[in-house]
Amino acid sequence: MIRALLYAVLSIVAITVIRLVAGLVMKAVADSLRPQGSPPAGQRARRGGAVPTSGELKPCQSCGAYVLASVAKTLQFGSSTAYFCSEDCRKKARP
Ligand SMILES: [Zn+2]
Repeated sequence: MIRALLYAVLSIVAITVIRLVAGLVMKAVADSLRPQGSPPAGQRARRGGAVPTSGELKPCQSCGAYVLASVAKTLQFGSSTAYFCSEDCRKKARP
């Protein structure tokens, strides 16, 4: 009887510890996914990071996928610029 009670208490403790650890891990993962020191509201995020996360989206002229204009492959057609998601798509557009 005491043994059963002990097992019950132990399993409750184990579940509590597992939940605590899982919570800490989830928090750590969430913190690491968030850009370090997310800027306070009102303060504009500075531009020029390694990976652009904002900017003008342009449809790829070959496959239609949207791509950031700042990282897109481009081709000049006279005065207009065609955007491509990849080098392959640009090659397809220009035989
Ligand atoms: Zn494409």
